[in-house]
Amino acid sequence: MKFLILFGPPGAGKGTVARKIERAISIATGDLFRDHLKRNSELGQKARAFMDDGKLVPDDITIAMLKERLEQPDCQQAELIILDGFPRTKPQAEAFLESFPEAEILTIYLSVKDDVIVNRLIGRWTCPKCKRTYNTNLHAAIIKGGNCVTEKCETPLERRPDDESEETIRTRLKVYHRETKPVLGFLREKKLTIKRVMGNKPPETVLKNVKKALG
Ligand SMILES: [Zn+2]
Repeated sequence: MKFLILFGPPGAGKGTVARKIERAISIATGDLFRDHLKRNSELGQKARAFMDDGKLVPDDITIAMLKERLEQPDCQQAELIILDGFPRTKPQAEAFLESFPEAEILTIYLSVKDDVIVNRLIGRWTCPKCKRTYNTNLHAAIIKGGNCVTEKCETPLERRPDDESEETIRTRLKVYHRETKPVLGFLREKKLTIKRVMGNKPPETVLKNVKKALG
Protein backbone atom coordinates (compact mmCIF):
# COMPACT_ATOMS: atom_id res chain seq x y z
CA MET A 1 0.00 0.00 0.00
CA LYS A 2 1.13 3.52 -0.76
CA PHE A 3 0.73 6.10 2.01
CA LEU A 4 1.03 9.84 2.15
CA ILE A 5 1.51 11.17 5.65
CA LEU A 6 0.18 14.70 5.47
CA PHE A 7 2.04 16.28 8.34
CA GLY A 8 1.69 19.71 9.86
CA PRO A 9 0.27 21.77 12.72
CA PRO A 10 -3.46 22.08 13.35
CA GLY A 11 -4.85 24.53 10.81
CA ALA A 12 -2.08 23.93 8.25
CA GLY A 13 -4.70 22.98 5.65
CA LYS A 14 -4.16 19.20 5.71
CA GLY A 15 -7.85 18.36 5.31
CA THR A 16 -8.36 20.92 2.53
CA VAL A 17 -5.41 19.52 0.57
CA ALA A 18 -6.34 15.87 1.23
CA ARG A 19 -9.84 16.30 -0.21
CA LYS A 20 -8.47 17.60 -3.50
CA ILE A 21 -6.00 14.86 -4.37
CA GLU A 22 -7.54 12.60 -6.99
CA ARG A 23 -7.60 8.80 -6.83
CA ALA A 24 -6.74 8.91 -3.15
CA ILE A 25 -8.63 8.04 0.03
CA SER A 26 -8.11 10.37 2.93
CA ILE A 27 -8.31 9.01 6.46
CA ALA A 28 -8.48 11.29 9.49
CA THR A 29 -8.14 9.34 12.74
CA GLY A 30 -10.55 11.74 14.47
CA ASP A 31 -13.25 10.62 12.00
CA LEU A 32 -12.39 6.97 12.67
CA PHE A 33 -12.94 7.52 16.40
CA ARG A 34 -16.22 9.31 15.88
CA ASP A 35 -17.43 6.56 13.55
CA HIS A 36 -16.55 3.76 15.98
CA LEU A 37 -18.10 5.59 18.93
CA LYS A 38 -21.28 6.23 16.95
CA ARG A 39 -21.56 2.58 15.87
CA ASN A 40 -20.61 1.50 19.39
CA SER A 41 -18.28 -1.08 17.83
CA GLU A 42 -16.01 -3.28 19.94
CA LEU A 43 -13.08 -0.93 19.28
CA GLY A 44 -15.33 2.05 19.96
CA GLN A 45 -16.28 0.60 23.36
CA LYS A 46 -12.62 0.01 24.20
CA ALA A 47 -11.75 3.58 23.19
CA ARG A 48 -14.67 4.98 25.17
CA ALA A 49 -13.47 3.30 28.37
CA PHE A 50 -10.19 5.24 28.15
CA MET A 51 -11.89 8.48 27.16
CA ASP A 52 -14.35 8.20 30.08
CA ASP A 53 -11.35 7.94 32.42
CA GLY A 54 -9.89 11.06 30.81
CA LYS A 55 -7.04 9.01 29.32
CA LEU A 56 -5.62 9.03 25.81
CA VAL A 57 -6.79 6.19 23.60
CA PRO A 58 -3.86 3.73 23.33
CA ASP A 59 -2.10 3.54 19.98
CA ASP A 60 -2.94 -0.14 19.42
CA ILE A 61 -6.65 0.76 19.37
CA THR A 62 -6.04 3.58 16.86
CA ILE A 63 -3.92 1.26 14.69
CA ALA A 64 -6.62 -1.44 14.85
CA MET A 65 -9.21 1.10 13.66
CA LEU A 66 -6.90 2.14 10.85
CA LYS A 67 -6.27 -1.47 9.79
CA GLU A 68 -9.99 -2.18 9.73
CA ARG A 69 -10.60 0.91 7.59
CA LEU A 70 -7.82 -0.08 5.16
CA GLU A 71 -9.45 -3.47 4.58
CA GLN A 72 -12.53 -1.84 3.06
CA PRO A 73 -12.83 -2.09 -0.74
CA ASP A 74 -12.44 1.65 -1.45
CA CYS A 75 -9.06 1.64 0.31
CA GLN A 76 -8.02 -1.62 -1.36
CA GLN A 77 -8.64 -0.01 -4.75
CA ALA A 78 -7.16 3.41 -3.96
CA GLU A 79 -3.86 4.44 -5.53
CA LEU A 80 -2.91 6.39 -2.44
CA ILE A 81 -3.99 6.46 1.19
CA ILE A 82 -3.64 9.89 2.76
CA LEU A 83 -3.19 9.98 6.52
CA ASP A 84 -4.50 13.31 7.77
CA GLY A 85 -3.33 14.05 11.30
CA PHE A 86 -1.70 10.65 11.90
CA PRO A 87 0.78 9.69 13.30
CA ARG A 88 0.39 12.33 15.97
CA THR A 89 3.13 11.15 18.35
CA LYS A 90 6.46 9.35 18.06
CA PRO A 91 5.13 6.12 19.66
CA GLN A 92 2.24 6.22 17.15
CA ALA A 93 4.71 6.58 14.29
CA GLU A 94 6.70 3.63 15.65
CA ALA A 95 3.55 1.51 15.95
CA PHE A 96 2.51 2.50 12.43
CA LEU A 97 5.84 1.53 10.84
CA GLU A 98 5.81 -1.77 12.74
CA SER A 99 2.26 -2.55 11.64
CA PHE A 100 2.89 -1.75 7.97
CA PRO A 101 6.45 -2.88 7.29
CA GLU A 102 5.82 -3.26 3.54
CA ALA A 103 4.19 0.13 3.05
CA GLU A 104 5.56 2.73 0.67
CA ILE A 105 5.48 5.98 2.62
CA LEU A 106 5.98 9.60 1.61
CA THR A 107 5.64 12.45 4.09
CA ILE A 108 4.69 15.96 3.07
CA TYR A 109 5.22 18.54 5.77
CA LEU A 110 2.90 21.53 5.47
CA SER A 111 4.91 24.19 7.21
CA VAL A 112 3.03 27.18 8.67
CA LYS A 113 4.09 29.63 11.40
CA ASP A 114 2.14 29.69 14.66
CA ASP A 115 0.84 33.26 14.27
CA VAL A 116 -0.58 32.49 10.82
CA ILE A 117 -2.35 29.47 12.26
CA VAL A 118 -3.87 31.43 15.11
CA ASN A 119 -5.35 33.91 12.63
CA ARG A 120 -6.67 31.12 10.46
CA LEU A 121 -8.26 29.03 13.18
CA ILE A 122 -9.95 31.95 14.86
CA GLY A 123 -11.87 32.43 11.61
CA ARG A 124 -12.53 28.77 10.86
CA TRP A 125 -16.00 27.28 10.41
CA THR A 126 -16.62 23.65 9.52
CA CYS A 127 -19.50 21.88 7.82
CA PRO A 128 -20.42 19.00 10.16
CA LYS A 129 -21.76 16.95 7.24
CA CYS A 130 -19.25 17.17 4.34
CA LYS A 131 -16.34 18.41 6.54
CA ARG A 132 -15.53 21.31 4.22
CA THR A 133 -13.94 24.20 6.08
CA TYR A 134 -14.54 27.89 5.51
CA ASN A 135 -12.64 30.86 6.73
CA THR A 136 -14.10 34.25 7.56
CA ASN A 137 -10.98 35.87 6.07
CA LEU A 138 -11.46 34.16 2.71
CA HIS A 139 -15.18 33.43 2.50
CA ALA A 140 -16.81 36.33 4.37
CA ALA A 141 -19.86 36.41 2.08
CA ILE A 142 -20.41 32.67 2.36
CA ILE A 143 -20.18 32.64 6.14
CA LYS A 144 -22.80 35.37 6.34
CA GLY A 145 -25.42 32.94 5.03
CA GLY A 146 -24.22 30.43 7.61
CA ASN A 147 -24.77 27.35 5.45
CA CYS A 148 -22.39 25.11 3.54
CA VAL A 149 -22.36 26.03 -0.17
CA THR A 150 -21.14 22.63 -1.37
CA GLU A 151 -23.65 21.29 -3.88
CA LYS A 152 -26.76 19.79 -2.20
CA CYS A 153 -25.19 20.08 1.24
CA GLU A 154 -26.42 23.39 2.71
CA THR A 155 -25.81 22.22 6.28
CA PRO A 156 -25.47 25.03 8.84
CA LEU A 157 -21.78 25.63 9.50
CA GLU A 158 -20.32 25.11 12.96
CA ARG A 159 -17.31 26.35 14.82
CA ARG A 160 -15.26 23.67 16.47
CA PRO A 161 -15.13 24.41 20.19
CA ASP A 162 -11.33 24.05 20.19
CA ASP A 163 -11.00 26.73 17.48
CA GLU A 164 -12.71 29.37 19.53
CA SER A 165 -10.13 31.32 21.48
CA GLU A 166 -6.55 32.32 20.87
CA GLU A 167 -5.64 30.72 24.18
CA THR A 168 -7.01 27.27 23.26
CA ILE A 169 -5.36 27.47 19.83
CA ARG A 170 -1.99 28.36 21.40
CA THR A 171 -2.37 25.42 23.78
CA ARG A 172 -3.01 23.06 20.84
CA LEU A 173 0.07 24.46 19.09
CA LYS A 174 2.16 23.89 22.21
CA VAL A 175 1.02 20.25 22.28
CA TYR A 176 1.84 19.99 18.56
CA HIS A 177 5.39 21.28 19.07
CA ARG A 178 5.96 19.03 22.09
CA GLU A 179 4.23 15.78 21.03
CA THR A 180 3.78 15.79 17.26
CA LYS A 181 6.70 17.69 15.75
CA PRO A 182 9.23 15.03 16.95
CA VAL A 183 7.51 12.59 14.57
CA LEU A 184 9.35 14.35 11.71
CA GLY A 185 12.76 13.65 13.25
CA PHE A 186 11.75 10.04 13.84
CA LEU A 187 10.64 9.54 10.21
CA ARG A 188 13.91 11.12 9.05
CA GLU A 189 15.88 8.70 11.27
CA LYS A 190 14.00 5.87 9.56
CA LYS A 191 15.25 7.23 6.21
CA LEU A 192 11.76 8.01 4.95
CA THR A 193 11.35 10.76 2.37
CA ILE A 194 10.02 14.04 3.76
CA LYS A 195 9.13 16.92 1.46
CA ARG A 196 8.39 20.35 2.84
CA VAL A 197 5.67 22.53 1.33
CA MET A 198 5.07 26.08 2.56
CA GLY A 199 1.50 26.12 3.84
CA ASN A 200 1.18 29.89 4.24
CA LYS A 201 0.26 30.41 0.56
CA PRO A 202 -3.22 30.55 -1.04
CA PRO A 203 -4.91 27.11 -0.98
CA GLU A 204 -4.57 26.59 -4.76
CA THR A 205 -0.80 27.27 -4.61
CA VAL A 206 -0.38 24.89 -1.66
CA LEU A 207 -2.33 22.20 -3.54
CA LYS A 208 -0.21 22.70 -6.67
CA ASN A 209 3.00 22.38 -4.66
CA VAL A 210 1.75 19.29 -2.83
CA LYS A 211 0.90 17.64 -6.16
CA LYS A 212 4.35 18.53 -7.45
CA ALA A 213 5.91 16.95 -4.34
CA LEU A 214 3.80 13.82 -4.92
CA GLY A 215 5.36 13.54 -8.37
ZN1 LIG B 1 -21.27 20.70 3.64
